[in-house]
Amino acid sequence: MSISLLARSIAESPTLRLNEEARLLRERGESVVHLGAGEPKNKAPIAAILSSAAKLVSGDVKYVPTDGLPSLKKAILRYTEESYDRVVAPENVIVSDGAKQCIFNILYTLCNPQDEVMVLAPYWVSYPEIVKMVSAVPVVVRPEDGSFIPRFEEIERAVSSATKAIIVNSPNNPSGAIYPEALVSKIVELCERKGIWLILDDIYHKLVFDGKVAVPGTRYTDRDIESTRLILVNGVAKLYGMTGFRVGWVVAPRNLVEIMTNVQAQTTSCVSPVLQAAAEGALTGMQSVVEGLRLTIQNNRDVLMNEMRTFSGVKITKPEGTFYSLPDFRAYMGESVALSRLLLEKARVVTVPGREFGMEGHLRVSFAGSVKDIVEGVARMKWALDPSSPNEIYIGDRKMVRDWL
Ligand code: PMP
Repeated sequence: MSISLLARSIAESPTLRLNEEARLLRERGESVVHLGAGEPKNKAPIAAILSSAAKLVSGDVKYVPTDGLPSLKKAILRYTEESYDRVVAPENVIVSDGAKQCIFNILYTLCNPQDEVMVLAPYWVSYPEIVKMVSAVPVVVRPEDGSFIPRFEEIERAVSSATKAIIVNSPNNPSGAIYPEALVSKIVELCERKGIWLILDDIYHKLVFDGKVAVPGTRYTDRDIESTRLILVNGVAKLYGMTGFRVGWVVAPRNLVEIMTNVQAQTTSCVSPVLQAAAEGALTGMQSVVEGLRLTIQNNRDVLMNEMRTFSGVKITKPEGTFYSLPDFRAYMGESVALSRLLLEKARVVTVPGREFGMEGHLRVSFAGSVKDIVEGVARMKWALDPSSPNEIYIGDRKMVRDWL
């Protein structure tokens, strides 16, 4: 087949594939518990709905400026000032189709073939694939066994003359960990000193628990927006639970934004003004929705931790943010793909194999769904794996007997 080598080297998105598998099973009437999801169950904030509805009803839905609607950019400038204590200009902002496109645009704009982009494990599945898509090379730095936070010395050691950028995602998908301030400040200092771009994927920065904060990396630089190497990525997907609206943005030096705008102009032209209006509505509307969502997710986290306590052999680190946990299942099976498949086939529970995040032997278990799903999902996992759990269970209205342990 005459398909390009590069395109063929890009892996399928495992999370999107699992969503599809779960949907097909449900369509067949199977009782599936989805603990793989990367989105909360909330309805979009009313301010977002009304604002996008007004745009739609106006009938005036045309191409808009590639880098984003001026009114949305204004809301983003205010958000940046409030959240990061940084005053930036509209020329420092570009709005794209979700944080995913933001990261693609940044890397496409920065990287020459064979440039290296450092990715810290456990990492969001898409980082290495996007790096490969722009003909650059992902360099993975791993933490010590039992930790989700790489050591600064390892990061420093992995820097080479080809290092173009480092991607930091804290609070972290998939581990739920917040990187310590000391680590973030050292990475910022390293990048500013060496001229390495530091991509701060802050998509979960307000989804933090127990009074903890993910201190923004921008606090540790005194460079202004035009001379800094720090690039901020954010969006409405996780902040407001608006994943389907596909709006994210980048805050960066204006010469970078200028080139990224050219890249976006030649690919997607602009983000739909209907969806930009929704994002603007969310950013300028009542912010109590963010706190409401945070509290719901924090409660879900507590429920998950409580249910997992009696899962013998499984080691779970309490997530400090996001809606993901990354328990260690090596006591049951070392191969996370096989384990995830077993759980789907036998117990009809969706999890994401840790291998996809550079953390073999673990499973990503999401707590973005309902409390009922979390309780039911963990009970089914225990039944499938833990010989000390009762060997009969009801899955939907079917009584299942465990006969494989
Ligand atoms: N970064 C991280 C760490 C994510 O988890 C996600 C979504 N799963 C994204 C970026 C992409 O977000 P969006 O939906 O805005 O494209």
